Amino acid sequence: MAVPKRKTSPHRRGNRRSHDSLKVEAFHECGNCGELKRPHNLCPACGHYNGRQILEPKGL
Ligand SMILES: [Zn+2]
Repeated sequence: MAVPKRKTSPHRRGNRRSHDSLKVEAFHECGNCGELKRPHNLCPACGHYNGRQILEPKGL
């Protein structure tokens, strides 16, 4: 079995983990209702995309 020759130092461990953090997901304002939505995605609040009504809004 392959075994590490040396203990990973805190510095090296930190360097490796520097890319591990999760980024906040991108959000854009909906052009129709102003609700925050994912870019390039249908607005879940009003059902609009690219200035057109795609789905009926919930609760109507
Ligand atoms: Zn909307």
